[in-house]
Amino acid sequence: MTPTRETVLAALRCITDPRTGSDLISADIIRALTVENGRIRFVMEVDRGDGETMEAVRVETVTALEALVGPGNVIAVLTAENRTAPPPDPGVRKSSGEPRPLKGVKAIIAVASGKGGVGKSTVSANLAVALAALGRRTGMLDADVYGPSQPRMLGVSGRPASPDGRTILPLRNHGVTLMSIGLMTREDEAVVWRGPMLMGALQQMLRQVQWGQLDVLIVDLPPGTGDVQMTLAQQTSVAGAILVSTPQDIALLDARKAIDMFRKMKTPVLGMIENMSTHICRRCGHEEHVFGHGGARADAERLGLPFLGEIPLDIDIRLAADGGAPIVVSKPESPQARAFLGIARKLIDDDIV
Ligand code: ADP
Repeated sequence: MTPTRETVLAALRCITDPRTGSDLISADIIRALTVENGRIRFVMEVDRGDGETMEAVRVETVTALEALVGPGNVIAVLTAENRTAPPPDPGVRKSSGEPRPLKGVKAIIAVASGKGGVGKSTVSANLAVALAALGRRTGMLDADVYGPSQPRMLGVSGRPASPDGRTILPLRNHGVTLMSIGLMTREDEAVVWRGPMLMGALQQMLRQVQWGQLDVLIVDLPPGTGDVQMTLAQQTSVAGAILVSTPQDIALLDARKAIDMFRKMKTPVLGMIENMSTHICRRCGHEEHVFGHGGARADAERLGLPFLGEIPLDIDIRLAADGGAPIVVSKPESPQARAFLGIARKLIDDDIV
């Protein structure tokens, strides 16, 4: 029997928060609760310093809820954050808790953009499958809170399982191991991620997912310069960031802000990719520069960053990504696929992955 949300809430009301003597719901520490298809997921938000006490409560809660849905169907994550602390200053890296490497993962590469809609996720998906095609053990962490699109682009559906209620088994397709923040919520559920929740979710995706042995983990970041970028840099050592930009000036202006943020976070910027660079007319072969051309290359040069390559504006790139098999997989011999493979090859040749 699948329990209702009310049944789960009632069960949570039967568990006592030892710090206050009140139940978990009255204590207001349960966040992002979802009850779906016989699975229960939630975050327990507690103050830093209470971590140890509350870990015991987390285990007790998982056991109690497993009585409703069976072993392995409860995912509960504890976020021991200091809820009264002011938000981190974007100009400074947190001094406590140095970023730790991720066990089994050789390099984490963040893919970022100054603004949305420039094709960051499309580029991330194609780069990931290109690196896998070139023999690199590749993972994809989709942290784009505003529009997690990697499950669709990489053709993955279904939910990640958690046989032990603690670790999460990622999904896999086209040779890429995938976990997405979109898989932590219901598809029809609009979630406003608050800072601590976001940190909890990201932490869970980094540390509790069984990534296995990876040469590279690509992180598809949300556009702009926000909490996720900062949390990622604070929680783990990122080998570097790749910036995706269209040639339009406005996008480039935003890209410069993102470069500045990574510099402050001490994350090396590995280079820029210009997306939607040129358009070749299928009928006459004429080359058009829909959004201008060469802006990212010129900008990269000016900023002393490597220019990693340019990707044309092409309907097949869009159709392939929307259809769940990126063009590198569906048409590996096409010039568009070769553009992505060339960038992946460059990352390998430059010893980045
Ligand atoms: P972002 O992650 O930056 O928000 P997406 O990767 O979701 O952007 O891309 C936005 C839209 O543009 C999608 O519909 C995608 O298929 C399309 N798109 C991205 N890159 C290209 C390209 N090079 N040619 C054609 N369409 C593209």
